[in-house]
Amino acid sequence: MIEAYAVTEPGGKLAPFEYEPAPLGPEDVEIDVQYCGICHSDLHTVRDEWSSVMATTYPCVPGHEIVGKVTKVCSAVTKFKEGDLVGVGCMVDSDQTCPHCQSDVEQFCNSGAIFTYNSPDKHLGGVTYGGYSENIVVDENFVLGVPENLDPAGVAPLLCAGITTYSPIRRWGNIKDKKVGILGFGGLGHMGVKFARAFDAHVVVFTTSPSKKEDALRLGAHEVIISTNSEEMQQHAGSFDFILDTISAEHDINSYLGMLGLDGNLTLVGAPEKPLSISAFALIFGRKSLSGSLIGGIKETQEMLDFCGEHNITADVEVIPIQKVNEAYERMVKSDVKYRFSIDIASLKSE
Ligand code: NAP
Ligand code: ZN
Repeated sequence: MIEAYAVTEPGGKLAPFEYEPAPLGPEDVEIDVQYCGICHSDLHTVRDEWSSVMATTYPCVPGHEIVGKVTKVCSAVTKFKEGDLVGVGCMVDSDQTCPHCQSDVEQFCNSGAIFTYNSPDKHLGGVTYGGYSENIVVDENFVLGVPENLDPAGVAPLLCAGITTYSPIRRWGNIKDKKVGILGFGGLGHMGVKFARAFDAHVVVFTTSPSKKEDALRLGAHEVIISTNSEEMQQHAGSFDFILDTISAEHDINSYLGMLGLDGNLTLVGAPEKPLSISAFALIFGRKSLSGSLIGGIKETQEMLDFCGEHNITADVEVIPIQKVNEAYERMVKSDVKYRFSIDIASLKSE
């Protein structure tokens, strides 16, 4: 049996859970999980906060920021071999034939991307189980190569927090010398700062946590605005080219749209439980645009990992044993994490 942590019912806590190993298909790669990051999406899903869009099926084994070693490759696998250090992000399959898959945006697969957890599972018949587990089996086309020069605990969060911030920043275009705002300095936000800085933007963090100011400056921000301070906010009104919104809870998006200059864009990646209320005037004055972005395709995820390898970029992590995962969730809700939890999966085997 495979050892994991799952929530077995709505409102439940994460606890030890076992499941049958998946039968292997010819293109499958079996991975021994070493580290798995804790994404706020894990918490939204475990607590069924996205029930109107993607209801949670229990038992739920979360985790989509996975780094591990290949333990077995099946007959048709050509890209990986036993012993390789690899990563798995938010997707484990798609139809691989539709126009979106063909243009390397499998996350928008017309047949529906198969997410790493809480999606229909072709192996087990129920739903997919994620990386809070000792093992995962994934189609080789959804396995990423991990640069060997980086700390694997800090690489794990790149598989979601990394690509989710890298992709919209790259899509926006050349941000060199542009004024770029990052809303929320958590798991996604701190990666957004690192990437925006790596692409030579003038980076400004908006945070509700004054205690994070020093770290934000140390990790690459040029300026930090305490978003609850209206005077500080007013000084920057109408001055941004691009803003990436990573906030996980309800917030006044109109006040941030007010920070954009003419033709500025705010891209949402944060996915709060409740709808945001948007004033038409916040967009029409200044011809501003509001968009969204969902993780990134496999090709772009590999590009991001290679970029991180070359530039020595990883997430700042607090490594925890899996037994502390419920405590970690409580801290994440309070925005009290520096700046991503990474679960040392070896702790599962000590149970
Ligand atoms: P996180 O580590 O908890 O960070 C979220 C940050 O948002 C907090 O650290 C906090 O930053 C800020 N925040 C929280 N509550 C707030 C409030 N009420 N008002 C203002 N700011 C608040 O979460 P994460 O893992 O980075 O994920 C962020 C969001 O992105 C989640 O909703 C997640 O589900 C979503 N997500 C989306 C995608 C995608 O593909 N679009 C992928 C992954 C995650 P400060 O302390 O600095 O204020
Ligand atoms: Zn995630």
